[in-house]
Amino acid sequence: MTTASCPCGLSTIEVKGDPLLRIACHCSLCQQFNAAPFADIVLYRDKDVSPIGDTKIRYSRLRPPPAVDRGVCAHCEQPFLERLRWPLMPAVAFVPSELLAGQVVLPDIAVRVFYDKRSADVDDSVPHISGYLASQWAVMRRLLPALIA
Ligand SMILES: [Zn+2]
Ligand SMILES: [Zn+2]
Repeated sequence: MTTASCPCGLSTIEVKGDPLLRIACHCSLCQQFNAAPFADIVLYRDKDVSPIGDTKIRYSRLRPPPAVDRGVCAHCEQPFLERLRWPLMPAVAFVPSELLAGQVVLPDIAVRVFYDKRSADVDDSVPHISGYLASQWAVMRRLLPALIA
């Protein structure tokens, strides 16, 4: 069983199955939610991620649908688990990569999206995608084959 805990250790998720994708999102909402220049997140099938024990997650939405439910640990208020439910597709869970480090073999970051919204430059060989539609598409075309496999 693989588990990942929030920074305070009071909330824990059990993770099954393989990661679908790892991305870096530089959008302003991710910057705000993570209090960081970008979100480094690993995507799983939502059904493969289960809160366990005394985990308390408080969800909020930072913009109207189709929106991600952004969950913080209710004890330490740190980003913990995000869930995306959308029509016709299996739901997807986003877990901060740093919470999984050492627990699972993390895939490399596949793409950086919403790079035009960045608050800091990142110089690496990963594709840097700017713009709303191009960013959505860059994620979808990588996520869908894994999700429907
Ligand atoms: Zn984002
Ligand atoms: Zn916590």
